[in-house]
Amino acid sequence: MAKERTLSIIKPDATRRNLTGKINAVFEDAGLSIVAQKRMQLTPAQAGAFYAVHKERPFYNDLVSFMISGPVVVQVLEGENAVAKNRDVMGATDPKKAEAHTIRAQFAESIEANSVHGSDSAENAANEISFFFAETEILP
Ligand code: ADP
Ligand code: MG
Repeated sequence: MAKERTLSIIKPDATRRNLTGKINAVFEDAGLSIVAQKRMQLTPAQAGAFYAVHKERPFYNDLVSFMISGPVVVQVLEGENAVAKNRDVMGATDPKKAEAHTIRAQFAESIEANSVHGSDSAENAANEISFFFAETEILP
């Protein structure tokens, strides 16, 4: 399996509780390298566009409000099989259903405030990475 990149976001519930370092340690312990990272305040337009795929879902407006409720840390993770590996370490969307060792089981507050985002396919990863980063900002 070749090296791959994926887009990760540490969400406002986690930055608010000062969990950036603990979450980053989970990624690094799993063999994922943080090759780009920035802390930022999303605008409503950015959050809405990033989650546009969920526009018709009942939770969309609340999700956008949550994602702009405080700073996020957007990051590019790189490693073998990075998309699937990150989804594994994140755990299920609903922290009650997430396996014990995962980020969401350890840190998430709820199905909405679930501490991390991770791309769900290589194609979405490429699109999501270019949403936030120029190629020159990614430094393996
Ligand atoms: P994932 O982040 O695991 O890929 P989805 O892509 O299905 O999950 O959903 C995107 C985000 O929307 C979730 O991470 C969570 O913050 C929020 N969300 C998903 N389902 C619900 C729900 N039933 N109620 C409230 N928020 C939800
Ligand atoms: Mg998703």
